[in-house]
Amino acid sequence: MKYIKLAEFYKEVSSTTKRLEKTAILAKFLKGLTEEDKDILYLLEGGIYPEYDERKIGISGQLALKAIAKATGTPNSKLVKEWKAIGDIGLVAEKFTLHKKQTTLGSTKVTTKKVIDNLRKLPELVGAGTVNKKIALITELLTSAEPIEALYLVRTLIGDLRIGVQEGTIREALALAYFKGDKESAETIQRAIDKSNDLGLVFVIARKKKLTDLKKINLQLGKPIKAMLAQKAKTIEEGFKNVGKPCMIEYKYDGFRLLIHKDKDKVTLFTRMLENVTKQFPEVTEYVNKYVKSDSCILDSEAVGFNKKTKEYTDFQAISQRIRRKHNIEELQKKLPVEVNVFDILYYNGKSELDTPFEKRAKLVRKILKDHPYKIISSKTMISSDVKKVEKFYKQALKDNQEGIMMKALDAEYKPGRRVGHMLKIKPSERDLDLVITGAEYGKGKRKGWMSSFILSCKGDKKGEYLEIGKVGTGIAEKDNDITFESLTKMLTPLIIKEKGNEVKLKPKIIVAVTYQEIQKSPNYESKWALRFPRFTALRNDKPLSEIADLKEVQEDFLKQKRNYRYG
Ligand code: AMP
Repeated sequence: MKYIKLAEFYKEVSSTTKRLEKTAILAKFLKGLTEEDKDILYLLEGGIYPEYDERKIGISGQLALKAIAKATGTPNSKLVKEWKAIGDIGLVAEKFTLHKKQTTLGSTKVTTKKVIDNLRKLPELVGAGTVNKKIALITELLTSAEPIEALYLVRTLIGDLRIGVQEGTIREALALAYFKGDKESAETIQRAIDKSNDLGLVFVIARKKKLTDLKKINLQLGKPIKAMLAQKAKTIEEGFKNVGKPCMIEYKYDGFRLLIHKDKDKVTLFTRMLENVTKQFPEVTEYVNKYVKSDSCILDSEAVGFNKKTKEYTDFQAISQRIRRKHNIEELQKKLPVEVNVFDILYYNGKSELDTPFEKRAKLVRKILKDHPYKIISSKTMISSDVKKVEKFYKQALKDNQEGIMMKALDAEYKPGRRVGHMLKIKPSERDLDLVITGAEYGKGKRKGWMSSFILSCKGDKKGEYLEIGKVGTGIAEKDNDITFESLTKMLTPLIIKEKGNEVKLKPKIIVAVTYQEIQKSPNYESKWALRFPRFTALRNDKPLSEIADLKEVQEDFLKQKRNYRYG
C-alpha cells in the first residue's frame, strides 16, 4: 500500500473527536487492508512492532530536524526557528516539504512497506556512525514524501502521532469491520489483544471472520502482558460499595510492579511498562526457581526494597535505581535488596487464568508459592466485610511503611491494561501527585547553566492537554534521591520545544512525584489549581504519561484536604 493512503486516513480520522465516527472511519480503512498490510496495525499504535516488543523507533526531535533539513535542503537553524514558533515538528516537515515540492516534482512514491523497513532498521543501529546512518534512513523516506506524508512520518518518528486512535477504538473497529460490531465479538477481540499484545496478529485472525480462532490465542511465556490497574477509593466504605462484601484486602506495597514469567527454569521479569528487567534482578530469578512450584506460570507482584540491617521496608524511590541499572548489578543488589510480594497469577501450567475468579487465583498463588520473607512471599491479605477490621489492617500496613491497602472483588477476572473498578487502592497520601514537567527555568549563580525550577502539569480534560499546576525547585539533589539539577537538565534538554529568555517549554515526557502542603484554587495557572510548597520526591520512570494525575484527581485531593480525611 502507498504510504499516502495511510497518511490520508490519519488526516481523516483526526478530523473528528467523536469516538463512534473514528471507529467507523477506521473500520472502513481496515476493510481495505489485506493480510500483507498487517504491519500497518503497529503503525496505527505509533510503533513498528507488537507492543510486547521492546524495539522502539526512539528518534529525538533534534535528529528528525536534521533529516528534514537534509531532505528539504533547508538550513537547520531555519527549521529550529520554525519549530519553536509552531511547536509541532511534524507541521514543520509538512511546510518545508511543500516548499520543496514546487521544484522537485515527480519523485518516487513511498510505500508503507518501505516506511516500515526503514523504521525497523533504526533501533538495530549501534556503534560508530549511528547518527548519520539514522539520518540517511529517514532522509531517504522524506525525500520522496508528499507534504502530508512528511507530517505523519515525522510524528511517527518522534512518537507523537496524535490521531486519537486508542486500543479501544481499534478493538471496536475490528469488531465492526469483520463481525457485527456486537459486544461478544468486541470482547473476544479484546481478550485476544490482552493475551497476545499483538494487534497485527489479532488483525490477521479477525480478517478471517472466525471468533473461534480468536479465542484460541493464548498467553505466551516470555512476552509481556499489560498489568491490570487500580482505581482509587476515598474510604473503606466506598471501597466496599464498589467491590462488594466480603472482599479481599491486601497491603498496597510501595515498590514497583513486576510481572514474572516462569517457563520451566527460564524466568523473565517485566515492569508495568513492559520492559524486560530480568538482568537487573538476578536474585528474583533464583527465588522463583527455588520457591515457586510450577512447570510454568505468570505471576503478578510488587517488588519492595528493604534495609538489610534493620529489615525495615524502604520506599519506591530508594530502589528505583535498580530498574535502570545495566552494570555493576551485583553491587547494587547487595546494597538495595528487594522482596517480591506476589498477589496474582495469570497463567498456570499451560493455561490462562485470566478468567478464573480472583479468590481462586489468590488461593492458587498460595498453593504454589512457598513464602520466604525478604525473598519472595505472597502478599499480606485478609477477606473481610468489617470496616473496623479493615481499618486496623490499614493502620498496620502504614506502620509497616507500605502505601495503604487494596480492596479487590473476589469474583473478578484479570483485565490486562485496564484500570478496573473491581480493584481499588486506598492511601492516605492525598498530598502526593504524579505530574509531568512541561517547562523549566535556568538557574542563576551557582546553578547557572542548569535548569533549576520546573513547571509541573497535570492532565487536562482534552486529549493530549497538559495544564500547569505549579513550580518545583526543592527536593532535588537531596540525599535520598539520585536526581540532580545536572541530570535533570540533561534529561530535559532534548525535549525543549520553545525558548524565551531563561525559560523553556518542554515536551511532556518526564514524570515526577511531588508532595505538597496544600492545593489552592488559583487563577494564575492554566489548571486553575496551584500547589503550595511542592517538593520533588522521585522520578516516576515506571509510569506512562497516561497515568499522571488529571484535573479530577487534583480536585479530589483538594476536597479531601478540606475534610482533612486521614487514616493512621
Ligand atoms: P498507583 O501506582 O498509585 O496507581 O497504584 C497501583 C499500583 O500499586 C500497582 O500498579 C502496583 O504496582 C502497586 N501495588 C502494590 N501492592 C499491590 C497489591 N497488593 N495489588 C495490586 N497492586 C499493588
